[in-house]
Amino acid sequence: MSHHEILIVGGGTAGISVASRIMESSSTSDVALVEPAEMHYYQPLWTLVGGGVFDREDSGRPMADVMPSGVDWYRNRVSGFEPASNQVELDDGRKLSYDILVVAAGIQLDWNKIEGLPESLGTNGVCSNYSYDTVPYTWELLKNFTGGEALFTFPSTPIKCAGAPQKIMYLAEETFRRNGVRSRTHVNYMCAAGAIFGIPKYRAALERIVSSRGIDAEFKKDLVAIRASEKVAVFKDMDTGATEERNFDMIHVTPPQSAPDFIKQSSLAGTTGWVEVDKHTLQHERFPNVFSLGDCSNLPCSKTGAAVRKQAPVLVENILAYRTGSAMSGHYDGYASCPLVTGYGRVILAEFGYEGKVMETFPFDQAQERYSMYALKAYGLPQMYWHGMLRGRL
Ligand code: FAD
Repeated sequence: MSHHEILIVGGGTAGISVASRIMESSSTSDVALVEPAEMHYYQPLWTLVGGGVFDREDSGRPMADVMPSGVDWYRNRVSGFEPASNQVELDDGRKLSYDILVVAAGIQLDWNKIEGLPESLGTNGVCSNYSYDTVPYTWELLKNFTGGEALFTFPSTPIKCAGAPQKIMYLAEETFRRNGVRSRTHVNYMCAAGAIFGIPKYRAALERIVSSRGIDAEFKKDLVAIRASEKVAVFKDMDTGATEERNFDMIHVTPPQSAPDFIKQSSLAGTTGWVEVDKHTLQHERFPNVFSLGDCSNLPCSKTGAAVRKQAPVLVENILAYRTGSAMSGHYDGYASCPLVTGYGRVILAEFGYEGKVMETFPFDQAQERYSMYALKAYGLPQMYWHGMLRGRL
């Protein structure tokens, strides 16, 4: 069995950021990472791919190009954890042991939780920006739309980037106007949550935008089934449990999401299935040599790459301290940000931390739509991601 001082599970935003920072710190060179994918994606770009601004190819780089040099890369899937004996099991039956484990395996998209969805995606007007495979069809639908019912859903589970389900709706609405079909189109936001956004300051701004653009927003409506050939979507009322059928000509679906099954089934999971860590130190509640960050953790923050940008330095600081037996001083305050794309050339940059505390970076009111924040989202942040964050520099 191979042994590594630090073993990282997952080579997405969190796993690569952490690996790079550890290698940059030069405090150990025995770092291994388990990741089955050959491509690494900057998922935030998919909103603008669905909106026709970028090609989906712009969002990916070969995993080999972002893997920090010196890291042992296992091109495998982890199938199980044995934290009591400091081991993980790989899908080919091998086991790896570790001194310190970092779990960064992202979130699971539960397409199959919506009856009829897996087989209808990419056909009959059913699209989703939530995967590389499905995102091009969103723009196909938007640009060729000739009018009718356009639905945009938000599920009843935690999701990554809680702003994404409505960002694509604003781009769609603007596309319909540009193409002269808006007057014969009904745009509906069908949201299982109780409000359009959790943070009051940005919620108020978004409610004004929805109303000024003639969008109908309905809350506590959870998509449960799609009959694509009939162009019917079935929603459950979250309060009464009653179901309601709605016709659509196009529907953008944000799938229900949960912790990956192999985490849910392990002793690292808490009752909700996520890896159970301290919300400030990112150290596991029961296994002190295990740490977690990003979408698969139970951190009560918004699941975004921006949150990972702040979590990664905290986690690395704490594992390096843990390694030498020093006190852990890294402290994560729940920071997350969401560039709410409200149109082509317009973004509200929401930034907030634990308990909804607003934590803005710029000396102006960030609840206003701005071109400068759109430029940051479309051109600045991707550069910062590939050249800064993934190299352990931000
Ligand atoms: P991921 O980056 O998803 O990486 C998880 C990795 O774990 C993957 O590489 C996967 O292959 C690997 N893995 C899974 N299972 C296993 C296994 N069994 N063994 C080994 N490896 C495994 N964030 C923002 O900050 N701003 C935005 O504007 C924004 N917009 C978004 C728009 C969309 C449409 C989407 C889909 C996401 C958006 N996000 C945004 C969210 C952001 O992409 C995620 O929060 C971020 O990627 C989380 O990082 P992660 O490392 O936890 O997960």
